[in-house]
Parts: sequence; C-alpha cells; structure tokens
Amino acid sequence: MHRIITTLLLITPLVLLSQNDTRIYDIVKEVSAERIEKDITTLANFGTRHTLSDTVSATRGIGAARRWIKNEFEKISSDCNNCLEVFYQKNLVSKGENERIVNDVWVVNVVAIQRGSRYPNKYVIMSGDIDSRVSDPNNFTSDSPGANDNASGMAGTLEAARILSKYNFESSIIYVGLSGEEQGLFGGKGFANYAKENSWEILGILNNDMIGNTSGVDGVTSNRDFRIFSEPVRANETEQERKARRFYGGEVDGISRQLARFIHKTTKEYMPEMNPMMIYRLDRFGRGGHHRPFNDLGFPGVRIMEAHENYTQQHQDIREENGIAYGDVLEHVNFEYAKKLTAVNAINLASIAWAPPAPENVAIGGIVQASAKFKWTKSPTAKGYKIYWRDTTSPTWDYSRYVGDVDSVTLDGIVIDNYFFGIAAVGENGHESIIVFPNKVFRD
Ligand SMILES: [Zn+2]
Repeated sequence: MHRIITTLLLITPLVLLSQNDTRIYDIVKEVSAERIEKDITTLANFGTRHTLSDTVSATRGIGAARRWIKNEFEKISSDCNNCLEVFYQKNLVSKGENERIVNDVWVVNVVAIQRGSRYPNKYVIMSGDIDSRVSDPNNFTSDSPGANDNASGMAGTLEAARILSKYNFESSIIYVGLSGEEQGLFGGKGFANYAKENSWEILGILNNDMIGNTSGVDGVTSNRDFRIFSEPVRANETEQERKARRFYGGEVDGISRQLARFIHKTTKEYMPEMNPMMIYRLDRFGRGGHHRPFNDLGFPGVRIMEAHENYTQQHQDIREENGIAYGDVLEHVNFEYAKKLTAVNAINLASIAWAPPAPENVAIGGIVQASAKFKWTKSPTAKGYKIYWRDTTSPTWDYSRYVGDVDSVTLDGIVIDNYFFGIAAVGENGHESIIVFPNKVFRD
C-alpha cells in the first residue's frame, strides 16, 4: 500500500491531494465504545471527584481519580515504547479565591504529551475534565458520579490517547485531564498559563465537556448531532486589530472559528453520518467551559459536546422527585455516542498533527481591482497551498483552488469585496493546515 501511494505521488501529485487518508478511517474504526464504557464506569465509581474532595483514599475522591488517570496514561505509554510524557501539572488555589473555593486546594491536571517528530513545540490538545459536582457546588462529600459531566470527556481523552499513540505525528498531541472546572475553570487557567510560560505554540484545543447524552430536554433524541462552540474573534485582540476589522472584515473569522470550521470539514469528510453543528458563540448562553481560559490567552480553542442536553442529569443531587430521576448517573450515558465524538476528536487531532504548519504573514490585496491577490510566508514543509473563499454569508469555506508551491497568487476575476478568503498549507501526505484568514493588507 505504501509503495502504491509513493508511486502515485511521483506521477500525479494533484490526484493524491484529492484522496482521503485511509489511516483516518482506521482511526474511526479503532475507537472502542466498550473501553469508553469501562473508563466512565471506573470514574463514576470514585464516588465523588469534586475538586475539594478526599485526596488520600485509594477508592474515593479526586485524588484516587487522578492517580488512576495518570496510571492509565502510563499504561498506554508503556504500550507504545514510552511515547507519552506523563506528568501532573498543578496550581495551589487559595481559600476565598471565589465563593466556590472554601479551602486551600491543589488543582491538579494530568497531562500526557505525544511528542511530534518534526514540530515538537507545536501542540494540538484534547481535554476532558476530571472533577464533578452535585446541586450545591461546594458539596464535596455527597455522591457525584458525573458520568456524563464529565467522565465522558475524560474517558474519550484516554481512548484517543490509546488509538493515536499507535501512530507517529509531525506536531505534538497533548491529552489532558483538567480539574477545578466546576469551581471556576481553575485547571484550564493553570494549564493555559503553563503553556504560555513554556512558549508552547498551540494549534488548537479541543475541549470535550459532556459527550455522552443523546436525549435532550428539548424532546429530541439524536446520536448524530453534536456542537462545536467557538468564539468569533480573539478575546485579547488589540484595539488596533478591532479597528482594522471594521474595514477589512474578520468578525466571524477568528482563529477559534477557523478551528471549528476545520473540525466541521474533517467530520463531514470522514464521518459523513454525523451532523456537526457550528455554534457561533464561545459557549452555551451564560455558561462556561475549559476552553475559555485558553481563549483568554489568545489560543485557538473550541468546545465539543452533545447537541441535546438534559438538565435533570447535570449538577444534580441523586434523587427522585415527581417521578423524575435526577442525577448524572451511568444509566443515562450513551457509550456508542461517546465513541463517535471521541472519533471526531481523534481524526481531527491526527489531521492537524499530520499537517504542515500554516503559512504566516498572510496578506491580501486587490482593492479597486478586478482580482483578489495574496502573498504569504511559506510553511517549512508544505508541498503547496490552497486558497479558500466563500460568500460573506456562508459559514463554510465553499470554494477552493490549489495553487502549488508559490508564495503569492492572483485569483483572476474574483472581486475582493464579495467574498471572504483564507489560505491553507498542504502537506506531501495531502493533509492541510488550519486555514489562515489574512492578517495583513497590501496595495500595489
Ligand atoms: Zn459541569
């Protein structure tokens, strides 16, 4: 098979560019609902994983849960010739930091890094949360299985590590269990700061929070729908960038939105049975998630989650009231669905980590001219570039043209005013970088 691909590449590289990478289909198939069920069950059986819960017991509380997760990552690593760097990343959060921190507490994240061969300092991240809660956010003793919120995301992250650790990638992949989410996004804050302090180049964070519920309070049951939340523009953009946007556009084209479009496209291509819904907002109305602290620092990041939520099964004391069974218990999790969303993550992590770096200094020109023009700084390992454009009202990049290994191009007859544009780098293997929206304007 490998030889056939090599031959094709030599003779007709353009044909290869339009072929799917069959390894991506393999990855979809390799994800196991049984293993995800087993891991969600183990996590739910720690009784509570509240951030302020017991850290000493071997069977109950957040301490037992994080030691188990670390041990799982280490087992996965020993199965791939120690391909994962596994460690705790922790921050001390002081009592009174907010009303949900009633004691000093170490917020401990569990990290596993699969180092990229070509771009070790570029990272794509998949996250789930370790911690859980019941009705009272400060109740750290009652049973709080958090089977869907968010053992599902944590189990998916472990399973993605199991599958992808069998492959080699050009950029690094991080699998991380974050803690302190329910108390105020503390684990994400700590880990995002850690990434910044270490000058990591973050290609994107795929934050998974609740990926196991298929029947919603809206009365809809679907094992195909899921949501990708992304904020419109960088939260920490400068005033100058904000002003420039009024004239050059970009209101719906921030870096997190491009990541969302990338995930949408990959899913449509390799898992066409799924229905990814791009939601043009940071998160659900007035609610938060662990991608936000990364976005706060200017890193691209999205939230991936079920489309139909059931609020009687989130953040609830386990009880029965008026015939309704409240509580985030195992019985409500659809493991086959969690498997599908895990596969969505895995194929996107792989596609991003196999792609060459995106072009830089992407500039657009063509004001009062008949054609749109582009210039960019080449990516170190791209074999060529693809210009994308779309109608200004379209959510997806509907038109594209492969332009070869050049660093400028003119799209004849395409008027700059009537479309939005972006550029991706294309690798030898056909994988494409996340699309870059032009960040400079030139006149000639
Ligand atoms: Zn929650």
